[in-house]
Amino acid sequence: MKLKKGDKVRVVKGKDSGKEGAVERVWPKNRRVTIAGVNLFKRHMKPRAEGQKGGIVDFVRPLPVSDVALVCPKCKQLTRVGYKITDHDKVRICRKCEQEI
Ligand SMILES: [Zn+2]
Repeated sequence: MKLKKGDKVRVVKGKDSGKEGAVERVWPKNRRVTIAGVNLFKRHMKPRAEGQKGGIVDFVRPLPVSDVALVCPKCKQLTRVGYKITDHDKVRICRKCEQEI
């Protein structure tokens, strides 16, 4: 997975296209990410227990990683993630400004 928790991303496809937010969780198995406040859906809750209220709650659905683009924290451009191999490590870099991110 090229994205990780806390990355700032912009949605480039779908109903929330253009929205930005931080990655809240990554789902490597199905290559999806959840982004805070993005791709909200309403869920109608029934009261389950005595004294508990039902109602409509917002919940966030994960988006395919292909629908979001990383906003580079260094150059602020929409970019793809690249990798650079250093002596000890593999580091993520921005493909636009080539800085480590
Ligand atoms: Zn950059």
